[in-house]
Amino acid sequence: HAKQQGSNNYQFYSFSRDISSYKKFLLEKDMRRAIVNEEFELYYQPQVEAATGRIKGAEALIRWNHRDWGMVPPNEFIPLAEENHLIHHISDWVIRKTCAQLWRWREAGYPVIPISINLSPIRLLKRGLVELVEGQLALYKIPASMLEIEITESSLLKNEIGVLKTLEELRKLGIKIAIDDFGTGYASLNYLHEFEADIIKIDQIFIQNITSANKKDAAIVSAVMHLAKEIGMQIVAEGVEEKAQYEFLKERNCDLIQGYYFSKPVPLPDFEELLHEGYLIPKENQKQDMPLK
Ligand code: C2E
Ligand code: MG
Ligand code: MG
Ligand code: MG
Repeated sequence: HAKQQGSNNYQFYSFSRDISSYKKFLLEKDMRRAIVNEEFELYYQPQVEAATGRIKGAEALIRWNHRDWGMVPPNEFIPLAEENHLIHHISDWVIRKTCAQLWRWREAGYPVIPISINLSPIRLLKRGLVELVEGQLALYKIPASMLEIEITESSLLKNEIGVLKTLEELRKLGIKIAIDDFGTGYASLNYLHEFEADIIKIDQIFIQNITSANKKDAAIVSAVMHLAKEIGMQIVAEGVEEKAQYEFLKERNCDLIQGYYFSKPVPLPDFEELLHEGYLIPKENQKQDMPLK
């Protein structure tokens, strides 16, 4: 290749590129082992009712408990899993794990709340997904309304027929579909009318700025919430970290709040304690030990 560029234009051998492809190779090998050995774990982040602080749902977020590196966040391995197709195994594991967990909570007498999982569009394009979900719900006798599926706005915008068709079928089973990271894929508000979904998750990028001097993001969030209400969609605000953000959202009747202000994603035992309590107190009031009024 270097020669094709002409004699004055040297192309240096990219050592760093090869290192990274070597890393990828190692990571893929590790990932196969992780699937076999079940090194993955689900953390749960509560979603609370804005008005009361009651826990009304939770999002399951995957972690990879790597034997050498410790907890690896999903942004570090999901993109690679999508490249090397291991995402199919990982997604199916998430589905099975979540349904089994819903069953366990019911058996143990915990309050029953819907759990949302994230699915890659790549998994939605492969056959067998709807059958798997249907089979798991039947196996554990879980109502479809207890499982929610999040798909990012940007992957929906590609308008792939296979993805839309699968979502449609899941919806027919009674599973709620959430548009994740809403606002980052530049969907027009009009899109909300066209695409049949049940829940909108406003991306944290907008939530970060709703109380800033520049009123632009506040206006966008208000408009999205207004339209979502009009057409009967539920709204979840993601990445709520501060009291002022929470107050803004509560005043505008946002349905659910998800963010560090109430709780980070936590491992199963911690989440079960929260489930048992049933409500959350914002970070700053946690000493008071009283539910929100
Ligand atoms: P997401 O679905 O948008 O999940 C929300 C992310 O925001 C989570 O990061 C969560 O920990 C983080 N977050 C929540 N509240 C706050 C907050 O108040 N402040 C800040 N700064 N961050 C907050 P996490 O767990 O690292 O997940 C990152 C992304 O990885 C997820 O974004 C999702 O797209 C993907 N992901 C997670 N689990 C799975 C999975 O099982 N399958 C697939 N395909 N993707 C997954
Ligand atoms: Mg999500
Ligand atoms: Mg999101
Ligand atoms: Mg995200």
